[in-house]
Amino acid sequence: MPDLDSVVRDIAEEMRARPDRGEVASYIPELARADAQAFGIAVVDREGRVVTGGDAEVPFSIQSVSKVFTLTLALGKVGDRLWRRVGREPSGSAFNSIVQLEAEHGIPRNPFINAGAIAVTDVILSGHQPREALGEILRFLQFLAEDPAIGIDEAVAASEQRTGFRNRALANYMKSFGVLENPVDFTLGVYFHHCAITMSCRQLAMAGRFLAHNGRNPATGFSVVSPERARRINAIMLTCGHYDGSGEFAYRVGLPGKSGVGGGILAVAPGKASIAVWSPGLDASGNSHLGRIALERLTQRMGWSIFG
Ligand code: GLN
Repeated sequence: MPDLDSVVRDIAEEMRARPDRGEVASYIPELARADAQAFGIAVVDREGRVVTGGDAEVPFSIQSVSKVFTLTLALGKVGDRLWRRVGREPSGSAFNSIVQLEAEHGIPRNPFINAGAIAVTDVILSGHQPREALGEILRFLQFLAEDPAIGIDEAVAASEQRTGFRNRALANYMKSFGVLENPVDFTLGVYFHHCAITMSCRQLAMAGRFLAHNGRNPATGFSVVSPERARRINAIMLTCGHYDGSGEFAYRVGLPGKSGVGGGILAVAPGKASIAVWSPGLDASGNSHLGRIALERLTQRMGWSIFG
């Protein structure tokens, strides 16, 4: 069995030195301030041991990685009725694409593209004030990570509020089909803010533990979701978690994973580990360039691909 500590150390060293770092997202102006040289990795194994490398303790904007947790909350709230509002097929299109929405009557393809995540946020918001819904999402992450220090970067949220014209278009378009229940501005406000949650690799890997262990936190034994639900969330992460790069991620890494334009990726090695990587430079599909390479190295050396 390869030694996890030395594998993580090798990966952090290699990633720090690589010249190819991808492009830092700038369509949300505040995200452009991220340091392209940053790289972090954290792995939490079944025994609860946390192995870290590089900038694993530095908080970053989790952006679309938050969509794994909002999906979990929305399923907890309305169960399978969620699938009336959003599909679960890969889209093969960019994360912010609008093209499929007209032909498919305003029902987004899956919960991880922006349109789908906005619909999921709308489900969480119904029956609450935006502030309460956001508090629920934040507390859920603090609970999962066992860390009350997790917060929201208000500057990032405000930056996206000012410039999120594409998301506003998606939300208005869905609203016209009756797919959103709440005022568009309320739903988008909660969406922009949950995307602006900041977490370190360590916090994110801790928060993902339940997905790696049949819905349970292996440290406390507490059940977060049923084993069946954890399996299904993992399935959607595998098929849709990297947008039009999901096939490539499955091919190279072989794990369920969810990326964000802040450069974070949460990956799940079922029965083995919860993993978070972060490097702000992105590839053409908006997924962390070095994050994916790092996960590819990790799964190869540890033999963790779900495909054997
Ligand atoms: N908040 C971002 C957006 O809506 C999230 C996108 C992402 O991380 N892929 O554009």
